[in-house]
This record gives sequence, structure tokens and C-alpha cells, in this order.
Amino acid sequence: MDELLAKERRARLAAERRLEQKEAELMAANRRLGQHSRDLTLEIGATRRKVAAIEDEKKDVLNRLGHAVEKMQVVESQLWKALEAMRDGFAMFGEDGRLEVANHAFRNIFDDLEMVRTGVGYRTLITLMATEGLVDLGQETPHEWISRIGDLWMSDPFEPQTLKMWNGRFLKLQNQRTADGAVVCLVVDMTDLMRMWAAVHELPDGFVLYDAEDRLVMCNDRYRKFYHRSAESMVPGAQFEDIIRYGLDHNQYPEAIGREEAWLAERLAHHQKPENVLEQRLEGGRWVRVFEKQTSDGGRVGLRVDITALKETQKDLESAMERAEAANRAKSSFLANMSHEIRTPMNGVVGMTELLMDTGLTSEQRLYTETIRNSGEALLAIINDVLDYSKIEADKLELRPEEFDFERLLNEVIMLLQPSAKDKGVALRVDYDLFLPTCFVGDGPRLRQVLTNLIGNAVKFTLEGSVTIRVVGIEAGPQTALHVTVEDTGIGIPKEKIDHIFGEFNQVEEERNRQFEGTGLGLAITKRLVELMEGNIWVDSVEGKGSCFGFRVSLPTAAEAENTVGLVELDVGRAVIVDSNSHTRSILSRRLQIWGVESQSYATINALDLNTVDADVLFLSDGQDSASSVQMAKRIRAQGFAHPIIAFSENADQISQDGAALFHALLPVPAPRGDVLEALKRIEQGPVTIPLRERSEPEPEADQPIEQTPEPEALASAEQVQDTPDPAEEAPSKTLDVLLAEDNKTNQLVFSKMVKAMPITLRVANNGEEAVAAYQEQRPDLIFMDISMPRMDGKEATQKIRELEGDGSRTPIIAVTAHALVGDREAIMSAGLDDHITKPVRKDSIAGMIDKWAQDHSGERKNAGLSSVESSGE
Ligand code: ADP
Repeated sequence: MDELLAKERRARLAAERRLEQKEAELMAANRRLGQHSRDLTLEIGATRRKVAAIEDEKKDVLNRLGHAVEKMQVVESQLWKALEAMRDGFAMFGEDGRLEVANHAFRNIFDDLEMVRTGVGYRTLITLMATEGLVDLGQETPHEWISRIGDLWMSDPFEPQTLKMWNGRFLKLQNQRTADGAVVCLVVDMTDLMRMWAAVHELPDGFVLYDAEDRLVMCNDRYRKFYHRSAESMVPGAQFEDIIRYGLDHNQYPEAIGREEAWLAERLAHHQKPENVLEQRLEGGRWVRVFEKQTSDGGRVGLRVDITALKETQKDLESAMERAEAANRAKSSFLANMSHEIRTPMNGVVGMTELLMDTGLTSEQRLYTETIRNSGEALLAIINDVLDYSKIEADKLELRPEEFDFERLLNEVIMLLQPSAKDKGVALRVDYDLFLPTCFVGDGPRLRQVLTNLIGNAVKFTLEGSVTIRVVGIEAGPQTALHVTVEDTGIGIPKEKIDHIFGEFNQVEEERNRQFEGTGLGLAITKRLVELMEGNIWVDSVEGKGSCFGFRVSLPTAAEAENTVGLVELDVGRAVIVDSNSHTRSILSRRLQIWGVESQSYATINALDLNTVDADVLFLSDGQDSASSVQMAKRIRAQGFAHPIIAFSENADQISQDGAALFHALLPVPAPRGDVLEALKRIEQGPVTIPLRERSEPEPEADQPIEQTPEPEALASAEQVQDTPDPAEEAPSKTLDVLLAEDNKTNQLVFSKMVKAMPITLRVANNGEEAVAAYQEQRPDLIFMDISMPRMDGKEATQKIRELEGDGSRTPIIAVTAHALVGDREAIMSAGLDDHITKPVRKDSIAGMIDKWAQDHSGERKNAGLSSVESSGE
């Protein structure tokens, strides 16, 4: 029982334990449940809040959607309005090819046909176009056209089509398929562009347009024809460089063959320029002128003009020019040769006539001889003119700038022309700007030629009155712009002939003009020379009243040409001027004023009372009558005027035999300012000499007023007179050994006759070789050397002689040249010659050279006293 009880107790205990366990488990489950329910409550709260937020958001989204839809509707309506307003047609077709929307412009294409509305098929529209005659079908039948354009519907991408419409307008059809299979159709009005395009096609020139990326936009047929070998590459969008390369590969550009890459680089460089013009030779012998210019949008437009004919004409012209130039050269050398040939006998004629005139001739014979000599000289002058002109024409004439005194040069020209002016009673006046420098750098001899021509003409064409030469200038830095005018009161030139006279061989062809000699070349040469000096020449003239020729040249002012002549202050006191010409009186008085010398002027000697006159120097001009100045001077001295007299004389040589001792100085007319100044300076310095120019013979006047005017100046003059060697006593006996090298027998004869009376021994060599041999045999004191001689010319012979001389003493060698060679002076001088005279040789010039260069045996230069003429040294 116990056992049973125990068993039962044990079972009860076990059951109680299990119950406790179950209770504990239940408690734990209960706790967990509680926790879970709390969690759930929290979660539900959070979810509720979320749902509320989402609700808000949804409301907001809906709100915004509402706005967006509204906006979309606005935009859609605006878009539609815009599409409606477009000039271009716009339509949309569904995937099935049915029209969904179309704007007004699109519908307009179909002339507002009823059928054209939403739902109509694409192919129906095409068919309408063809059958209603809306489109110009060209060569195609309606059927062909409809099937061609209809088939395009399927193509993707769609190739744009240009349609020509019944009313002449051009429409470009462009279709674009969208992602959902619909098709947008755009119809653009191309009428204006097509018109321009048609015009471009009609252009006779090639036209091409590239865009900013250098891709071809368009070119016309002409352009393709020019570059027909490259034409295939000329598709829209092709790069310029690729087209050129294609051309290079297909021999489009003959000038590039063999240097393709270099040529391409050059071509591209040209193409890149904002604007370029070049000439291009194309295959087939064609020439085009290429114009290329950048457009405002960065593209490039180009034109190609066919210049083949122009090139051919140019080539013809060039070859004609070459032929003409060759002919011209031939003419020039013919003229040069001829002139030499003519000159040689002419020199003989002129020289021999001069000698003949020294022999005893009857007055009739003298007249004939003089006529022969004058005609010969005139003929030589004409030959020289023709030669000069042909030289200028052949561009052979070059200027040789050297320093020269322009005023002196002008005065020399005046002195040369003075006799002919005087013969006609025409006064020659010079007005050289007082403050203008006189020394410049330029081609003096050529300027002399210009002046000689202009002043010579003025004298020639003036029968009475005067010729006035005015020189003014503007100094601009180192240059002086010289402005020279030659004004005459002559026959004048008719207006219509003014341009004509500057042409070669042109004269004012009138009966009265025939009385004047001339070739009509002078002004043509003058004009060319002035132009060669980069100057200009002009003329103003009134027929019957006179002419005024002027020229302007700009020359560098010579360094030593500081205007010292104008800026000097003299301490001379007062001067009296006696001159019948009011013009020259006033020029001299202005000059004197500048040097600080006050002056009073009188037209004649009678007008002035020498007893009362207060003057330290008297200027006397003999005007037209050279003898009178000596007479006047005598009268002046007789009246007790003891101060220096400075005389201006147009013929100093005559006075030298007459009464030069009366004068403090004897100056030529016109006298360079420098000479007047020199004479005045010598008064300042005290004792004076007579006259300025060296004279060979002293004045043996018996009734010299020296006794009456024992003034220091006059006494000094007398001494000077006594100092002058008597030529009879002092002239060297025939000791001077002169060698003449000359091939022409006549010239030898002329020369030897001319020097016959001179105190020299003349040896003659027939050419350069003989001259050198003669030199070696016995060294001469002086050599006259012809330049062009057979076997050995004058230059070579001179060089040989100079070599033989080495460092020893130098024998003066004088070149005897033809006028044609004057321009080659430098070449002659550089060959070792010392000076030159021109042919035909004159007694005076030979004597002058001997005077200038003769040396005695000790090597000292001495004056042989042969000449009264100073060499100009040119
Ligand atoms: P040439 O004097 O040798 O005839 P130019 O060429 O020097 O030739 O002159 C051409 C022409 O111009 C002269 O023939 C003359 O008709 C005219 N002419 C030139 N200078 C003058 C002038 N000062 N007065 C009038 N006519 C002139």
C-alpha cells in the first residue's frame, strides 16, 4: 500500500512538478505575448503615420499632375499654334501610314482639298499630288512618280526629296521615323534657295561653298567641269583637303606633279587665309583664277574664273614685248654704232673747219666755213639727242649721283645760252632763292641737260622780252625739294598741244614753228630724265603770251651745303648798285641786305652823283653792252671814286683785254652768290686781287686810272698785274712732252694742228699698244687718250701705264671721249684716267687740260699759260 501510496505520492509529486513547469512555461509565453503585443502596437502607429504621409504626398502629386497637365495642354496648344504658323509643312503619320496631324502649311500644299484630313493614308496623299497636278512630274509618268515616292515611305533613313510644284515653288520633303514607328513629315519651302542655286548654275564661273568645318556645301557644274578629274569626290560633306587629295591622285593639278605634298601644304595655307587670290594651271592647259573668301559664319566661298584666254594674250604680249625689246636693243646698239661712225668723220669736219678758220680767209670764205662748223655742231647735237633718247628708252640710262653745286651749274648753263639770248635782245634772268642751299647730291650732268633743254627752248621760242629762271625749295630733313621754273614771254603753246609736246619727235606743227630748229626730242628726254629722278615736270602756257615750264625734284642736301652763303654777316658798310635791269638790281640788293650790306640802286651811272655818294663798294653791270662797263669804270674813277668796283660782265674775255685792272672783281652774269660773297670778303680782308678768274694776259690799258686813284686796292691790282708773267717770256719752250693716243687719222691731224702753236712736243700713237710702247720709250708729261681704239683700248692702255708707274710719279692721262661715253665717266676714271674732254675736241679745251695738268720735270704742276678757259673738271 505504502508502496502504492508512495507510488501515488511520487506520482503526485511528479505531477506537481510538471504542473509547476507548465505554469512557468505559461508565464514565459505570456510575457512574450505581452511584449509582442506592445511591439505590434508601436508598429501599427508607425504604419498609420506613414500611410498619412503617403496620403499627403499622393494629394500633392495629384495636385502637381493637375498643373502639369494644364501646362502640357498650354504647351501643346502653343506648339500647335507654332506649327500652324510655320511656313514649312508639318505632318505626323501613324505606324499604319495614316495622317494623324498636319499643320496649315502642309494642308496648303494640297490646295486645301477636302480629302486631306486626319486618317487619310500617305499613299493617297501622294496619289493626290500626282493626279491633281499639284506636282511637276518632270519626265516621269504619274504612276512612276507615285510608286517611287510611295516606296520611299518604307526607306529608312529617308532620302530627302525636292519636289517642283505646279506654281513654280520648290518643296523639300523630309521624313523621319520615330521610335514608336510613327513618321514625322517636314516639307520645307526651298523656292528662294533653288532660285539662287539655279542662278549659281548659270554663272559662267565656277562656284563653291564650304562650311566652317571645311566640308563641301555646294558647287556648280562649271566648278565641276574645271576640276573634272576631281568631280567624283565633290559630294556634299566631303572635306576640302580630301577633294584636293583626290585631285592630286588623279593628276588634276599639273603644277603639283612631283611635289604633291609641298603643293598641298601651300594650297591649304592659301585656303586658310581670310581672303586669297591665286592663279592655277589645270590639267588640259586651262588656267583659272582662284578667289576664296571667308564667309561670316566661318565657311568659305570660292569662285573660279577661266583666264586661259587672258593668259594666252599675256603670253603673246610677253613674247611681243620680248621681240620689241630685242628690236629696241638692236636699234639702240645700231644707233650707238652709227653715232660712232658718224661722229668720227663729223669730228674731222668740225675740227678741220675750226683750223681752217684760223687761216687767212676772205669774209665770204669765213662765212661758209662758219656755216660748215655750225652745221656740223648742230648735227652732232642731234646725234647726241637721238642717242640719249635711245639710251633712256632701252632703260640703259642710269643716274650717277654725286655732290654738285646746283646754282653754279645753273649759272654755267645760263652763260652758255647767254650769247643767243643776247643776239635776240632777250634778257636772261635768274632768281635763286637766297636761303636755299646750293650743294646737293644728284646727277649734275643730267640736271644740266634738263636745264639746257628748258632754258634753251625758252630762249629759242622767245623773240622778245625775257626768260626768267626761278629756283625755290623746301628743305625737309636731309632732302630738299627743288622747284625750278623757266618762264618766257615767247610764242606760247596752244592748249591742245600741251600734252603732245612731251612726246618724242613731237613739235607744235605750225607754219610759224617751222622757223625754229629742233628734233622734237628735247622735251621727251627732259621728261624722262626728270621722271628718272623721281620728279615731275609740267607746263603752263598761253599762246602768244609765253610759257612757263617747271619741274620738281627732291635731292639730298650735300653735307657741306649748310646755307653758309645766306647766313654770313659782312663788315663792308654801304654799297651802290648800277644796273639798268631793275630785276637784277633788286636781287642783288636783297642779297646784300642779307649779308648786312645796305645798298642804293641806280639804273644808270648818270643818275648818281659820285661826289656825294656814300659807298664802300660799287657794283657795276654792263647790261647788254660789255664795252660800256670799262667806260663807266673809267668815268667813275675819273670822278674820284676810290673804293672797289665789282663788275658783272656777260663777256669777261673781252674785258680782260680792256680794263680789268679797274675792277676789284670781275664776275660772270649771272654770278653765283658764293662768288659775290668771296669778292666782298676780300674787301673786308683788305688788299684785293683782280679779277676772280685767272687770266693769261694782263690788261695793258695805257690810260689806267691807277694814278688817279692811288688806293691800296688799285695799287695792289697793279702789282698783281706786274706779277702776271709775260706769256712771251714765260711760256715754256717746247719742252712739254705730250702723247696723243688716237686711231683715227683725221682726228690725229686735227689734234696736231690745234696744238701746233702750243709750246709742246706732240707724239702720236695709233692705238693703246703703241701708247704703252711710247710711254716706255720716254715718259711723257701728259697723255691724251682716246677710249675706243683697236687692239688695245684707252682704258686698258691706261691700266698698263699705271702698272708700269707703280708707286712712282703719275703721268696725267686725259680721256678723249665721245659724248655717248660721258655717262661712263666713272668707268673711265676707275681705269686710272685723271680727267676727260669730249669730242669734237676744241683748241680751248686741249689748252685748258694742258694748263691744268701739265707738269714740269720736277713733277710740280705749272701753268703753261695756254688757256683763258678753266676746265670744268667734268
Ligand atoms: P625741239 O625744241 O627740238 O623742237 P622739244 O621736245 O624740246 O623739241 O620741244 C617740242 C616742241 O614744244 C617744240 O618744237 C615747240 O613747238 C614746243 N615748245 C617747247 N618749249 C617751248 C617754249 N618755251 N615756248 C613755246 N613752245 C615750246
